[in-house]
Amino acid sequence: MWHATVLTLFPEMFPGPLGISLAGRALASGLWGLDARDIRTAATDRHRSVDDTPAGGGPGMVLRADVLAAAIDAADISPDRPKLLMSPRGRPLTQSRVGELAAGPGPLIVCGRFEGIDQRVIDARELEEVSIGDYVLSGGEIAAMALIDACVRLLPGVMGKLASGTDESFSNGLLEYPQYTRPQVFEGRTVPDVLVSGDHAKIDVWRQNEAEALTRARRPDLWAAYQNRIDLARSRKSTTKG
Ligand code: SAM
Repeated sequence: MWHATVLTLFPEMFPGPLGISLAGRALASGLWGLDARDIRTAATDRHRSVDDTPAGGGPGMVLRADVLAAAIDAADISPDRPKLLMSPRGRPLTQSRVGELAAGPGPLIVCGRFEGIDQRVIDARELEEVSIGDYVLSGGEIAAMALIDACVRLLPGVMGKLASGTDESFSNGLLEYPQYTRPQVFEGRTVPDVLVSGDHAKIDVWRQNEAEALTRARRPDLWAAYQNRIDLARSRKSTTKG
C-alpha cells in the first residue's frame, strides 16, 4: 500500500485536509497510509531543542542536522522509498514527478521550519528538495499536504472515474479546456453550442483547440515544450517512414 511518512514539528496538523473528501475517504478505507512523526522526539537535550542560531550569523533559527538525521533514521524506511525535503529551493513539483511518486511505494517527507535546515543533513541523507512554487510558506507541512494530495488522487481506486486522471491539466502537456454544466444560460452566457451538439468528434476538436489556445496564452513555457514534443514525434515518424 502507498504510504507517506511525514517528519514534522507539528504532527497534529495531519491528516488535516487529507482526512476529508476524496483523500480522506481513501485513507479511511485503507487505499493509502499516513504517519506523521514528531521530529522533536529525536531531540536529546533536556529542553528537547531542535534548532539553533545560524552559523555565520543572521536572523532566525536553523533545524539541527543531528536531530533531523536521528528522526530520519528512526523512521527506518525501506531504501526504495524517496526521501523528500519540502523546500522553496527545490525543483518545482510537476504532474510528471507526482505520477512517478504515486507509482512508487510512497515517500518520506521532511517538513522544514524556521530559516531552514542544516545543509549537512540534506547532503548526508540525500534528501531530494521539492518546491511547490516560487513563494515562501512558513513551514513545509502545507507543501507536503499538497504533494500527498496530488499523489493520492492518482492511486488506483481513489478517483471514481478512471478517465478523470488522464484528461486533465498537465496530463498531456496542456492546460485543461474550459468546463461547463447546467444551466444552459447563466447571466446571459450560454454553454458553447458544440458541447450540446452530441457530436463527440467535434467536441474533441473543440476541446483540443481550447486547451491549446489557453496554454499558448497563459503558459508559454508549457506551450514551447508541447510544440517541441510534437515536432520530435513528427520527425521520428518521417525518419521511420524514410
Ligand atoms: N529561508 C528559507 C529560504 O529562503 O529558502 C525559507 C524557509 S521557510 C520560512 C520554512 C520551511 O517552509 C522551509 O524549510 C520549507 O520546508 C517550507 N517551505 C516554504 N516555502 C516552500 C515552498 N515554496 N515549497 C516547499 N516548501 C516550502
